[in-house]
Amino acid sequence: MREVYITNTLSRQKELFKPITPGMVGLYVCGPTVYGDAHLGHARPAITYDVLVKLFKNLGYKVRYVRNITDVGHLEHDADEGEDKIAKKARLEQLEPMEVVQEYTERYHEAMRALNVAPPSIEPRASGHIIEQMGIIRKIIDAGYAYESNGSIYFDVEKYNKDHHYGILSGRNLEETKEGTRDLDGQSDKRAPFDFALWKKASPEHIMHWPSEWSEGFPGWHLECSAMSEKYLGREFDIHGGGMDLMFPHHECEIAQNVASRGTGGVHYWMHNNMITINGKKMGKSLGNFITLSELFSGNNDVLAQAYSPMTIRFFILQAHYRSTLDFSNEALQAAEKGLAKMLTAAKDLKSLQAKAAASENSEVQQIYEKCYEALCDDLNTPVALSHIFDAVRIINSVKADQMQISSEDLALLVKLFDEVLGGILGIVDESAQGSKSATVLEGLMDIVLKERQEAKAARNWAKSDEIRDQLKALGITIKDGKEGTEWSL
Ligand code: ZN
Repeated sequence: MREVYITNTLSRQKELFKPITPGMVGLYVCGPTVYGDAHLGHARPAITYDVLVKLFKNLGYKVRYVRNITDVGHLEHDADEGEDKIAKKARLEQLEPMEVVQEYTERYHEAMRALNVAPPSIEPRASGHIIEQMGIIRKIIDAGYAYESNGSIYFDVEKYNKDHHYGILSGRNLEETKEGTRDLDGQSDKRAPFDFALWKKASPEHIMHWPSEWSEGFPGWHLECSAMSEKYLGREFDIHGGGMDLMFPHHECEIAQNVASRGTGGVHYWMHNNMITINGKKMGKSLGNFITLSELFSGNNDVLAQAYSPMTIRFFILQAHYRSTLDFSNEALQAAEKGLAKMLTAAKDLKSLQAKAAASENSEVQQIYEKCYEALCDDLNTPVALSHIFDAVRIINSVKADQMQISSEDLALLVKLFDEVLGGILGIVDESAQGSKSATVLEGLMDIVLKERQEAKAARNWAKSDEIRDQLKALGITIKDGKEGTEWSL
């Protein structure tokens, strides 16, 4: 088995990956809080860890990949104050919270399918693991690292930090953390501003709550990942991934909860993908540059000059290393679209090439194939792997133009490179190609687009619904509104 190196956030170093059980990988990744459409920020972790899983499987590992759905406990301010994000959406739209969860989980899945992201092995929901979360709270209380205040339970960070290091992951000490937190406003039940909620007593207007020995309430957001990772991957497991924005406080709190309740931080390798910016700025609803994935696919957002296919998005994200920031701009996306087209054209041309040369040892193609694996096994260096595949594109174009000859061994290896590495591990496939896979992707994509048009119509935004219809027409897709809903044909 090839050796894989991963940059471990815990040690801040690139380390040789050694699984707990030989040949097996346990991976946990923080999934979405499902109160709105999947957006650009969701695409990067999903694609990064999808490639990691595909690489491990390709190398012969068995992978258990757990990615959760957050459907309770994620509050609006600092994760542990204010209204529950899902409950708020439910209140505004006059829906049951679980209707909100169902709707946006399904939309998230549709967007993931379009991006060719494979589903995880287990996708647990926080609300389905309240008992496990209460069990952990009980253990933390018994260990002396939590206190009750007015029916809520808080983690005692100061006490924990005397025995352990709160800040081990983010590299902070408690003094620095103190400076970064707001003072308590006098309304809070916490003893210290940096303490975090394990259980919150529900206020009368709070609609999602469960009975417990402490109060009628709900679990703190950080707790769910401690509970679900332990349940499905064990006391200790291999890799925990997520966006860099989750490192503090979410993952820091997760480690503290794990140590306090089971005597170990639990995770051997922490991996964090960097953030996406838009035209150099952080993406945010308040900044007016918030882009959902369905808007990217349809082009319906003022920031966008055109629609971008899911595969263009995937290709673009993989052209940067997961630990670097990545800036979205129309120019950069258009360049990615061109690069992708070049690569997929070469993949198509490859099928009709003829071998005319004699076999040679250590040919350029063999070197390219080897270097692709070296790059991917070196902390998932997808941009370098893609640059090697572009070298293969150059060879294909030269052979096609009769400027060079290729042996049958090299030709077979090129086919293997495109199938196994480009398609299989990087997940870059031809969306327009005929075949069940692309048809499924197109179906999913049309569901997203038509749903958006339906919403525009429901909101009496005729300009937008007509615009979507016209844009689809320009792509050769005709839609017909009928009693049973909207039908489409190519
Ligand atoms: Zn999490």
